[in-house]
Amino acid sequence: MKPTLRQIEEREKQKKEKRQIDTLIKYDRAKICPKCGELMRYAFGEVFKCDNCGAEELTSFGKVRKYIEDHGPSNAANISDGTGVPVSTINRYLREGRIEIPDGSDSYIKCEDCGAEIRYGRYCPACAAKHNKGQNVGIFNSEAGEVPKHKRDAYGKMHTLDVMEKTRNKR
Ligand SMILES: [Zn+2]
Ligand SMILES: [Zn+2]
Repeated sequence: MKPTLRQIEEREKQKKEKRQIDTLIKYDRAKICPKCGELMRYAFGEVFKCDNCGAEELTSFGKVRKYIEDHGPSNAANISDGTGVPVSTINRYLREGRIEIPDGSDSYIKCEDCGAEIRYGRYCPACAAKHNKGQNVGIFNSEAGEVPKHKRDAYGKMHTLDVMEKTRNKR
């Protein structure tokens, strides 16, 4: 039987909705409810709420933030173990400046341009300023990191990166 125009339209609509939902999930703005299988949407303060059963769950960033709150600054591998959030995602939060490496740590991330050590972001302040030159707006501002003031002596031991929530440190 040939599908009717209405059925075709309906199918297209469903496909479009599915794509939109996939995008929301990809950007941590929605997820599938573990209780009822319906869609949970971002509600507030890094919490998802299920439209259907009302269940609430933290977003990936919410889980990372809570872990840091509960355990203090910790390295990405521990946070990943404790939250189930992949290390790559935690590193992304670091590059986005949502979390930072505490001052006085024994290792930092590096400026993507000059390799200078920074506590968060993608570029050191000098390179960020260079990028911003010639731009009408400071689009790189959120990617401008901060250079650490102190560094712990490492004595050649293997070290891992501790990270902490950024806003908390600023308060
Ligand atoms: Zn639910
Ligand atoms: Zn730099």
